[in-house]
Amino acid sequence: MARRKLVVGNWKMNGNRAGNVELLAGLKALGPFVADVVVCAPFPYLADVALSLQGESIAWGAQDCSAHESGAYTGEVSAAMLAEFGCRYVIVGHSERRAFHAESDQLVADKAKAALAHRLTPIVCVGETLAEREAGQTDVVVKRQLSAVIHTLGHCVPQMVVAYEPVWAIGTGKTATPRDASTMHKRIRGWMEQRFGAAGADRSILYGGSVKPNNAAALMAGGDVDGFLVGGASLEAEAFLQIVRLVIP
Ligand code: PEP
Repeated sequence: MARRKLVVGNWKMNGNRAGNVELLAGLKALGPFVADVVVCAPFPYLADVALSLQGESIAWGAQDCSAHESGAYTGEVSAAMLAEFGCRYVIVGHSERRAFHAESDQLVADKAKAALAHRLTPIVCVGETLAEREAGQTDVVVKRQLSAVIHTLGHCVPQMVVAYEPVWAIGTGKTATPRDASTMHKRIRGWMEQRFGAAGADRSILYGGSVKPNNAAALMAGGDVDGFLVGGASLEAEAFLQIVRLVIP
């Protein structure tokens, strides 16, 4: 089975209802898309986004979900609730959640498990900080983050998508070189293959970190990057679509 090409827009905590209508209209005008294109909007807008994307070739997802099924977890949103609205994807372990909400590797793994239990595809973010990179710890950190997920999901791992996002490249305008990205993607794929054979090697691995129309082609060129998790550039329809076209010519 070939690895699927995928481009995911992470709107983060941006947007408003009127602006979202405009952004989605811009995206829809340029579809249909032959591969998976996903927008991950803030929770309050998801119902609007779901309605707007009905019958379109663009899927939608959330930026986080709870590790719990239900109960006294004020402020959290469960995977079951997302699934009820037709959500297909959920980002878990984004570096902003790991940093600002102290999410541990195990919590991220538990969120991925909760997502899969409701047939959502978790987009599991992994990546090292600048300090970790400079200390030569990149492999150790990424392997540790991935191992928690592999251990928790077991044979379900092949149902997730991994996004390699070096933290120092997110929202900073600094991008990993195509070579750095390819090297890490190969390693991640190797770890998945070691554990799950062909099913592990077949998983899509996205790159994220200041991806723009002017660097996406070079990042894809090595053949190890299956698509992108895009933050800032996903807020402009034209920029996002240019990236989509580079992934899916
Ligand atoms: C992200 O939010 O996952 C991201 C990669 O952001 P940006 O593209 O803005 O660096």
